Amino acid sequence: MEKVICSYCGKDTVSIKDHEIEISEPYAESSTIKIQERVCSHCGFSEDDGSNDLVIQKELAALKRVSMVNVLDELNAMGHATASMERALGLPARTIARWKNERSMYPSAAALALMRMIRTFPWLLAVADMHFEGEAARNILLQHAAKELEDIRFEHPDIL
Ligand SMILES: [Zn+2]
Repeated sequence: MEKVICSYCGKDTVSIKDHEIEISEPYAESSTIKIQERVCSHCGFSEDDGSNDLVIQKELAALKRVSMVNVLDELNAMGHATASMERALGLPARTIARWKNERSMYPSAAALALMRMIRTFPWLLAVADMHFEGEAARNILLQHAAKELEDIRFEHPDIL
């Protein structure tokens, strides 16, 4: 086997160590992956062995897909039908359905960002339904903010 030389001290006292890192994406569970590091027992220097980026990118892509499916499942469970979301957002028919159902399809970063926003603030769909008209948008925001405040007061009567 070829000797690996420490790029810091130049000695051949380098061994490969596995260690695990946890990566996560919003609205997806975190995932633990094994990556490899070259560690020099002489000077203690450790470095990436170059194979990790691909492993991390692949796992992140899978987590993003899980995130999208979770977001869409949760929105459906909240009563937002896929077709009506497509209509409200002005997306071509079956766009969201494909993000959800086509296992081989990795939605774009913009698509994922959009749906995470909607999942975090689902009332944005009502704003979109009103064609983003300013006054209607403000009223929708205020109604939802008032409702949230009421919920917080109900749950924590002591703090407000
Ligand atoms: Zn070294």
